[in-house]
Amino acid sequence: MAEEAMNTIQNEAMNTNDSLVQQQWGQVCNQLKIEFGETAFDSWLKPLSIGSFSDGVMNICVPTAFMKNWVMTHYSDRIHKIWERQNPNIKKVNFVVQTVSGTSHADTSLLKKIASTPTPQNMYVSHPMGAVNFNESIFQEGQSQLSAPLNPAYTFDSFVVGKTNEFAYAAARKVAEMKNVSFNPLFLYSGVGLGKTHLMHAIAWHIRQQSPERNVIYLSAEQFLYKFVKALRYKDTAAFKEQFRSVDVLMVDDVQFMSNKESTQEEFFYTFNSLIEEGRQIIISADKSPSDLEGIETRLKSRLNSGLVADIHPTDFDLRMAILDYKAKMLGIEVPEKVSEFLAQKITSNIRELEGSLRRLAAHTQLLSNHEITLDMTQDVLKDMLRSIDRKTTIDEIQKKVSEYFNISVKELQSSRRARTVARPRQVAMYLAKQLTSRSLPEIGRKFDRDHTTVMHAVRKVEELIIEDQALAESVDALRRSLEG
Ligand code: ADP
Ligand code: MG
Repeated sequence: MAEEAMNTIQNEAMNTNDSLVQQQWGQVCNQLKIEFGETAFDSWLKPLSIGSFSDGVMNICVPTAFMKNWVMTHYSDRIHKIWERQNPNIKKVNFVVQTVSGTSHADTSLLKKIASTPTPQNMYVSHPMGAVNFNESIFQEGQSQLSAPLNPAYTFDSFVVGKTNEFAYAAARKVAEMKNVSFNPLFLYSGVGLGKTHLMHAIAWHIRQQSPERNVIYLSAEQFLYKFVKALRYKDTAAFKEQFRSVDVLMVDDVQFMSNKESTQEEFFYTFNSLIEEGRQIIISADKSPSDLEGIETRLKSRLNSGLVADIHPTDFDLRMAILDYKAKMLGIEVPEKVSEFLAQKITSNIRELEGSLRRLAAHTQLLSNHEITLDMTQDVLKDMLRSIDRKTTIDEIQKKVSEYFNISVKELQSSRRARTVARPRQVAMYLAKQLTSRSLPEIGRKFDRDHTTVMHAVRKVEELIIEDQALAESVDALRRSLEG
């Protein structure tokens, strides 16, 4: 290509602003969704993200080598054509794996299976993993019809482990690795965006790769309900039940969705009991512990409680730092420690948001300027996100809410009293002030008539307590939600 043309393209890239490129990518995605359907889109195209652009080549990031091959053979031409229509400077699309060592060997074995499977494309697309097994004797009809697609990016390798999620991670790994059933059911619970779905998909991928003959079904409770209602409508509940009963591992995500849906619960309960009696593995997730689930029958609750219950706590600072570090490597960007610390202090609500902030930084730095990431630039790029976090909460509000919650007065909270009944809520309030506002430690200290070391100590203390003391963790979570909501 002529040098002049190349320069023009590079300049275009420099001048294109972040949101424009993102917007174009959004439009490309919308078109792909229409052409290939939601299911295929969610499985293969949604996990893609835009990377760098140079010399007319748009690099698109893919989570695994397996996906890269799949996307290249099935979708790359369309992606290119659609995008080129929007932006003629894009001469080529290229796919880059953002993986860490350890994920790829499993992918290769899957790839071999795919390569040797001469099934029409739409069969793969409508159910990727069903298609992998399609021509093999191990293929199970039920699996393809029942299971929802799995996100290829959600594997054990890509799950960052820290104090707040290590127990749930260990339990999930154990269940995935054991040939015979150990904890039944495994019940995972946490607030949103903390990794339940990720862990469930990781279990499913692991079992499907290690023991492809086992029939692993992953469904959201909503999908379970939908399929059940459909079976009722077609008076085909017997076949519905039969399908579930041939399952080796059944995973149902977000069962809080079954609240107050008695007939679904009833059906689920029977399916559940018979699978457990036959020694099949069940894995359930919800946003609360079995005992705290509302609108769920007592006998179902006690069944859910009878295996292993593992919760994922809200993230702590260290885990957020580790996740930022890992995801920055995946995105191929250098994030200075100062910036990571800033993000880890600010974006505390869940991992999805933390990830989102990093993606925006990556898009900004790689696509437009290739500038180093700095604190100033971060504050600028994430302005709206940070503003909405800051806007929500003031220290005064936090003091008021925390006092109400613990049934003490704001005066007591600010006082020098050291009694545990007052000191603990004060520490919680300081912790929340650090997490939910952009105030510095001395600024927070002043609001409590303390110095910054006291605030620092309080923050650390609460971070420790959240792990040891479930009741306190739940209180902090409830307060956070009510302050952010
Ligand atoms: P939940 O089902 O609890 O709402 P998800 O499993 O959907 O949460 O997780 C939200 C996002 O955060 C996903 O993109 C997931 O990959 C990511 N995520 C969650 N926990 C971790 C972790 N420990 N390490 C890496 N990514 C994580
Ligand atoms: Mg989920």
